Amino acid sequence: MTKAYFATAINCIDGRVQTPVLDWMKKFCGVDYVDLITEPGPDQVLSEGPAEKVQAIREKVMISVRVHSSEVIAVAGHDDCAANPGPKEQHLHQIQKSVEVVSGWWMPARVLGLWVNEQWQVEIVADTRPSG
Ligand SMILES: [Zn+2]
Repeated sequence: MTKAYFATAINCIDGRVQTPVLDWMKKFCGVDYVDLITEPGPDQVLSEGPAEKVQAIREKVMISVRVHSSEVIAVAGHDDCAANPGPKEQHLHQIQKSVEVVSGWWMPARVLGLWVNEQWQVEIVADTRPSG
């Protein structure tokens, strides 16, 4: 079997944001597959808790990084999120904070913060390795 390359996405459960984030990450990261961890409103959960939910997400991310040697972890927030309603500015703040939290897990991976806008397009709002 030839080696397959993986990235990891922490995304909302919302069906509208799955394909945009997966397609974008495959292209941007140049990977074959994207491991997917879903949580309603993950930008809010990672930035505000509760701690046990953050820990559960961390454990899933750890498997992806360990077993699939994922080198990029993305946290995505999106427009019109039922689980985490609020203006874009609030989401962007939460996404920034989430990237800080995930970076604090000290996994050997680049961490991206993504915003999926009202046209279901992906925008980078945070990147721990901006020029890389
Ligand atoms: Zn959502």
